[in-house]
Order: sequence, then structure tokens, then C-alpha cells
Amino acid sequence: MLYRNLGKSGLPVSALSLGSWLTFGKQIDNGVAEELMSIAYDQGVNFFDNAEIYARGRSETVMGDILKKKKWDRDSYIVSSKVFFGYLGKDAKPTQKGLSRKHVVEACEQALKRLQLDYLDLYFCHRPDKSVPIEETVWTMHNLIQQGKILYWGTSEWSAQEIMEAHLVARANHLIGPTMEQPQYNMLVRQKVEVEYAQVYSTVGLGTTIWSPLASGVLTGKYNQGFVEDTRLSILGMDWLKESALQKENIQRAQALAAFAKELGLSLPVLAIAWCLKNPNVSTVILGASKSEQLSENFGALDALRLLTPDVMEKIETILHNRPAPPEY
Ligand code: NDP
Repeated sequence: MLYRNLGKSGLPVSALSLGSWLTFGKQIDNGVAEELMSIAYDQGVNFFDNAEIYARGRSETVMGDILKKKKWDRDSYIVSSKVFFGYLGKDAKPTQKGLSRKHVVEACEQALKRLQLDYLDLYFCHRPDKSVPIEETVWTMHNLIQQGKILYWGTSEWSAQEIMEAHLVARANHLIGPTMEQPQYNMLVRQKVEVEYAQVYSTVGLGTTIWSPLASGVLTGKYNQGFVEDTRLSILGMDWLKESALQKENIQRAQALAAFAKELGLSLPVLAIAWCLKNPNVSTVILGASKSEQLSENFGALDALRLLTPDVMEKIETILHNRPAPPEY
């Protein structure tokens, strides 16, 4: 395993980590979830990602039960949760969601209970909340750190400006600002990580825990010959994801990439994950898997990194033809 510090913090996080969205407590049974975490931990993964909203809290409960059963040393792994959507999702009452002090504190307590932990290593604001003053959220996160309930806090899908606002408030009040951001990043979605955050990496030392490295499975090539049932895109209620994931240009890119991966002697998911890892501003790539074979295969990305020479990266650019325009200063 490769370890990278989470941004400018001193926390070493495994370059590949494991997340539980749509899988734990939902698509897979608890035995498979345990297998996935065991494979990951044995491979040197030290970060397990979660959120209050995942399977309406069940994902945290399942992960908590597994951690309890496995009895791994608490200081050998990092666990996250995220607050914003509320564990009741669409059914959440006004005080049961968002980034108010009330909800952030209560959601933290609830996550700790479900995960059966004394503290969260990472706590993310799952989305920005325009209805709450940024001062309130920054103070709340700082206080949770002071209370030992969380160790680092961060954001997910915030704009560069919102992240900088949080840092300005933190600086002005001698508080701890956000350490990391959790954005989507993969061969098909590049703008935020490659352009929008370009300055934030150096100005505040932002770390990134990136999500959907395989674009929900599209970058495995499994949809290249048509739709396949029994995958996340066929889960009831996932029509919105299916629609955005299976756009024609995504499939065309996946088809061309699959052929190129074959030339390199790699599978497409391995190539796609290694490509994410190649970006030095990515602290960790969060993997998702519904089967243990998928996860084992995806760890091949660490070895594949050495094949991604500048020449190969340029060939990939030609295939993707979606390099975002560089930032204008
Ligand atoms: P991916 O884009 O990598 O998708 C993972 C899914 O792709 C798997 O569940 C599986 O789905 C399929 N898959 C993975 N590997 C293979 C393989 N080798 N062969 C065939 N199919 C494969 O990542 P996720 O979208 O799951 O994101 C990873 C994590 O990021 C999440 O678990 C979560 O922790 C986090 N996240 C955070 C978000 C945020 O807003 N902060 C949003 C989304 C995710 P299947 O078998 O069903 O096809």
C-alpha cells in the first residue's frame, strides 16, 4: 500500500480506501460487507468512509458491527462520517438536516452511536448549507475537535470559494479550518479537482478523498455492450444516476479506454483507478465494491501506476479529449 498525508495535515491515509455508499446496509448483505473490509484492511487500507445518509444510518451500523467484531486496533484505522442530508433523507424535519450547530452536533453523536466509536477521525460537511452562517459551522467543527469527538473536519462538493471562506473564518478566530474535501473525481469528471481547487492545494494545503473513481461502474466497461442488470444502476430509485452515468459520450469513452487498457495489459477499472492515483493532489481514492472479486481486482491499480508514463498519460488524454482548460490567473 502507498500512504499519502491528508493534505498538509500529518495524517497518513492509504492511497486506496473503502467506502460504503449504496452497498453497506443496502445492495450487499452484511457478510459481504465484512469480507470487503477484511480484504481492504489486509491490503493496508486504513480509511473507511461513511455518512449519516448512507442507507439511512444502516451503513454506519453495519460498519460499526464489523469494526467491533474484527477488533482491529482503533489507532490503526480512520473512519469518517458526513453530515448534511440527515439520516432520514427526504423525511428529515428542518432540525434534522443541514449544517446548523444543532444538527452537526446531534448527527455526530448519532454517528458515533451507530458506529460504536468514541470519536470520528474525519467528519465532512456533505454539502454546503447556504442557510447557515459559515461562522456557525466552523465554530461547531472546531468545538467538536476540542471535545475529542472528531479529529479532522472537511467538506464535500464545496466550491473553492466556500472552502476559502471557511478558512478565513477559522484564521480570524484562531480556529481549526477544514483539512480535506471530498469531490467526485474520475476520467469523466475533472473540473473541480484539476482546475477549481488548483490554488487551494497550495494556499491552505487542501487534501482530497475522491469519490466514484469508476463513475459508478461505467469505467469498468461493464455497460459497453448495453445495460447489465444486478448492478447499482438497476437499484430501485437510482434512475437519476443511471441517466447521468450512461450518457452516450461516457460509454464511447469507456469503449475506447477499454481497448487501450487491453493494449497495456490492464483491466479498465485498474487503469481508471491508477489514473486517479497519478494526480498528486489526490490524497486517497475511495473505492466502492459490491463483490470481493471487484475489490481485489481494483488493488491492482497500485502496481499499474508504473505503467502510466507521460507518454501513456498523453495517449489517455487523446482518447478522453476532455482535459479541462487550465485556471486563469
Ligand atoms: P465507484 O465509482 O468506483 O463505483 C463502485 C461500484 O462500481 C461498485 O460498487 C460496483 O458496483 C462497481 N465496480 C467496482 N469495481 C468493479 C470491478 N472491478 N468490476 C466491475 N464492477 C466494479 O465508486 P463509488 O461511487 O462507490 O464511490 C466510492 C465511495 O465514495 C462511496 O462508497 C462513498 O464512500 C464515497 N462517495 C461520496 C460521495 C459524496 O458526495 N461525498 C458521493 C458518492 C460516493 P456494481 O457491482 O453495482 O456495478
